[in-house]
Amino acid sequence: MHYSLRCTECGADYSEGSNSFRLSCDAGHAPALLRAEYRVKDFLIDSREAGMYRYRNWLPIRRTYNDASGPVVYHGKNLGARLQLDNLYIAFNGFNPEKGADMETCSFKELEALAVLGRTDDKTADCLVVASAGNTGRSFLQIASKVHRRVCIVVPASALSEMWITVPKSDKVLLVALENADYFDAIRLGDMIAGLPGFYPEGGAKNVARRDGMGTVLLAAAEALGTLPEHYFQAVGSGTGGIAAWEMSKRLLATGRFGSTGMKLHLVQNLPFAIIHDAWSAGSRNLPSFNDEEAKEAIARLWSPVLSNRKPPYGITGGVFDALKDTGGITYALSSEKAREAGRIFKNLEGCDLDPAAAVALAGLMQARKMGRIKREDLILLNITGGGNNHPFLTARKKTVEPDIIFRRLPGTEDELQASMEGLLSGNRIPQALG
Ligand SMILES: [Zn+2]
Repeated sequence: MHYSLRCTECGADYSEGSNSFRLSCDAGHAPALLRAEYRVKDFLIDSREAGMYRYRNWLPIRRTYNDASGPVVYHGKNLGARLQLDNLYIAFNGFNPEKGADMETCSFKELEALAVLGRTDDKTADCLVVASAGNTGRSFLQIASKVHRRVCIVVPASALSEMWITVPKSDKVLLVALENADYFDAIRLGDMIAGLPGFYPEGGAKNVARRDGMGTVLLAAAEALGTLPEHYFQAVGSGTGGIAAWEMSKRLLATGRFGSTGMKLHLVQNLPFAIIHDAWSAGSRNLPSFNDEEAKEAIARLWSPVLSNRKPPYGITGGVFDALKDTGGITYALSSEKAREAGRIFKNLEGCDLDPAAAVALAGLMQARKMGRIKREDLILLNITGGGNNHPFLTARKKTVEPDIIFRRLPGTEDELQASMEGLLSGNRIPQALG
């Protein structure tokens, strides 16, 4: 393989065999992320490949797929003029054909799906389990349907309206919904399903393919700009995208060809649920303690529910705290009202509707400008993590995916869960419910 996996805590190095899908270190230390170590240390572009697979030398994948999408980076002149920023670059991930952006799921989570499905083993008949708050699930539904990979997607029932695709759904793809749930509950159900015979976990932030897939946003920027940006803005729920950008920035710096100073991470959250911002503002490696029910109420009021992980990989070695610390990072928490206003400004100036999370990121950038944290001449990358939802090409093609099964509550026992899932695996797709 063209990479190995290194533990960010103890340095243990694991080779990735033909059928491994390692998510963690075997040593008995506290949880820590693994990181991919690529044999090729220089940033090389494979121009034979499409979209994000152009960066396959720095992706932990076994294969690529045709017609892959990728991030598009352009000079945001209109938005920059409004904010008095001369060097504002936009990494657009979504559907905006006028700019060459072709992600039909309208989300940068497509980069995760392309990388993770590129990492899965061809020989296994087992089903990959992915938990999602919305965009990730849609992206896996779409990409797994296109390339016919076995995937089980677990989402809160409140996210079902986001489960649309523009291609026919493959019979290898399962959609599972959980009622009265938020993202964290979906992760718990996903973990339970992944423990059943015939299933295995995707791993979320722990999956190096998920992170390096998202990290291609920074690689596209490096290719376009010839250097690292000084400032990187993104909205975060789990913060995995922030970790991913940080990790890629370190690889680019190590080449010696993309500047010598690192880039500063600016991570933006949506009020009233901003626990990463709360912890970082308090200078703490630990997340604040909170009442789960109150947290779920706050999450239910978010304009951007994808920014809502109650257990983000924050304090873990190699996680969000370390990324913010290493880059001298800054966090923000913006109201939905400010984000909506930012979304309107983007639509007017750059001609494309934004996903709520992307609007939150722009609101954070505007706040940073107002507070003097960025200067007029600074080189800035704004990660637009989703947009283009309302494009007429898509509205004519979107098909809502019905869940294969809806759980009314978390199953109490493994037997109970297995009984529900068995019918699905044997192809008997009748939506049923527990509770
Ligand atoms: Zn270790």
